[in-house]
Amino acid sequence: MIGQAELIKLIRVYDPSADSDLLSRAYTFSMKAHESQLRYSGDPYFTHPAEVAKILTTMKLDVATVATALLHDTVEDTLATINQIEENFGAEIARLVDGVTKLSLLELTKTNDRSRQAENFRKMFLAMSDDIRILLVKLADRLHNMQTLKHLNDPEKRHRIASETMDIFAPLAERFGMQDMKESLEDLAFSEINPDARDSVIARLNYLRDNSGDLVERISTEIKLTLSEAGIDATVMGREKQPWSIWKKMERDSISFEQLSDIVGFRIIVANSNDCYSALGIIHEKFQMVPRQFKDYISTPKRNGYRSIHTTVIGPEGIRIEVQIRGNEMHNQAELGVAAHWLYKQQADGVDPSKYLWVREILDDLDASGNPEEFLENTKLEMFQEQVFCFSPAGEVISLPRGASPVDFAYAVHTDIGDTCVGAKINGRLVPLRSRLRNGDQVEIVRSQNKSPSPSWESFVATGKARYAIRKFCAMKEKTEYAELGKKMIYKQFNELNHELNDEDLLHVLPRLNLESLQDLFISVGEGSIPAQEVLEITLPGKKKSSRSGWRFLRRKKNIPSGDFSVPIRGLIPGVAVHFASCCHPLPGDKIVGIVSEGKGVTIHTIDCDSLHSYSESPERWLDVSWDTEINSKDFHVARIFSSLANTPGSLSALTGVIARNDGNISNLKFTDRNPDFFELQVDIEVRDTKHLNNIIAALRLDPAIASVDRMKA
Ligand code: MN
Repeated sequence: MIGQAELIKLIRVYDPSADSDLLSRAYTFSMKAHESQLRYSGDPYFTHPAEVAKILTTMKLDVATVATALLHDTVEDTLATINQIEENFGAEIARLVDGVTKLSLLELTKTNDRSRQAENFRKMFLAMSDDIRILLVKLADRLHNMQTLKHLNDPEKRHRIASETMDIFAPLAERFGMQDMKESLEDLAFSEINPDARDSVIARLNYLRDNSGDLVERISTEIKLTLSEAGIDATVMGREKQPWSIWKKMERDSISFEQLSDIVGFRIIVANSNDCYSALGIIHEKFQMVPRQFKDYISTPKRNGYRSIHTTVIGPEGIRIEVQIRGNEMHNQAELGVAAHWLYKQQADGVDPSKYLWVREILDDLDASGNPEEFLENTKLEMFQEQVFCFSPAGEVISLPRGASPVDFAYAVHTDIGDTCVGAKINGRLVPLRSRLRNGDQVEIVRSQNKSPSPSWESFVATGKARYAIRKFCAMKEKTEYAELGKKMIYKQFNELNHELNDEDLLHVLPRLNLESLQDLFISVGEGSIPAQEVLEITLPGKKKSSRSGWRFLRRKKNIPSGDFSVPIRGLIPGVAVHFASCCHPLPGDKIVGIVSEGKGVTIHTIDCDSLHSYSESPERWLDVSWDTEINSKDFHVARIFSSLANTPGSLSALTGVIARNDGNISNLKFTDRNPDFFELQVDIEVRDTKHLNNIIAALRLDPAIASVDRMKA
């Protein structure tokens, strides 16, 4: 364990004016508070906060952050209170400790509950926006817990912590540009989650290293020499890639690693960005460049602030090598990410806020997603994806996550452009809207004022911004449609009495119904909360048409007696046969609509079911219905999902196993396609409601044998 004096010495190296008295007091306060507590390893508990503090000194963080690290578990795990912290160490440190304590509490919730987890995410980000140092302490805390994970005797818990690290903390570190932290977390998690895979990658690394002698050394020396002959002073080093990233690449591209240069990347570190470009010129002049591998992250930094030039050349001894060229400050930024901010605090005169633009962007994504699941999905995806850079016709660079479509591009430029987008040209060629954008594409959006976004776009957009805008627009459109429907229904009532009607005639109805505008009236009638008959009754009292049998847009306020009716749906007329459409398989929780068929009764569809288009001309057949949440039905409903699995032994049993463990009952299973890599199948599952189904889908998506899962609605 690191001693008090040693810790202070470490900080003094980069911050000579550090308040050593404060640090000493924090050190002893925490040691006393944790007193007799022990870690799983049997070590005194205080070794943990002391090591977390040490990790933060390697990131050269300020005294307040290091003191927070020392104190981070005192409020949660000891008798110490936040008031004591404030009295002893001041408001700033108390606020930081409080923030870390709150994050730790969130961690205790079950991780297999995705929506809960998403909320944690949200709170974490908010805490971060409050003060990013809270998150840095949390990451260091997680790093030390991972370093000591092997002492934990519960394999399931170990696995859970490792998965959480892989899914949440490592991507967060990446998002904050902290390459070192990200790699350490991934490697530790990898050794817990798949030790065999990691061992075999390492064995391969050792083999290649042993067989290439001083190859890396020879290449580095030659590059350094080449540069110094041209008058550029540079540090050149070969760096092995991490087992986890090699493994991921192997899984993804099924490549084998044959020579050392496949697993070693070279870094050239020079004084400043001018030297970067000079060095690049010299390297490209001397060694043949491999086309399409060149990336300039200096002129267009990555979203997490990363700057560097990447290129691949046929290097010394005819060996293909990857080279990264960056300046000193860029290098620190790449290793430490957001933490580098404190490193430069003393040197720079104030912080350039645009440097942290991407922190803002994370928060914007957060605002754009309405519910936690969406947020988790969007964020998780965007964090794992690399970016693509595309150009507008005017040459403006738009950065998007990989997998983005022209629709994402349109919304990234402006919401109006997305809303009126009808087509796209990539590099001058007309392409489908669902096409994937590639680096360097020039994208031109074709627009039309009388077109509107389609709900189906949601299935291929990659950004939270686009998804949110599409949903918002479609919800608005739904309102307009209700208004049109309501208006038709009112006019129909009057027409049946041969009564001429103008919109103005309806104005006097508004105060009686407590409504503001005709639009509100039409919407209320259209969506069924006010019967059209009531409007007639107010306008022409006593003229009410006798209610014959026939379908009306009546919303029943009362529940249908459950004796006759086991279907938990409101708005139905008693005694009518009800069935669920086999095209969309509606589940409790879905927005639904009833379609009346003469002699067949009512068929329930989801509101977004494609087959509803064929009824758009006959609004009289639409019945406004909703699930009755008061009836706690134990009925099961059939949902249909579509999944593709890796064509490997055990993947089908992984699928059925996950469904069974999540309480789903498979009622039908059909293979739709089989090829050497994948097979695709359609599975009918009996579930309680959408939430139940979503749990199953989420659990399936977490299973590595399952390539994709989607609910089928059509
Ligand atoms: Mn801790």
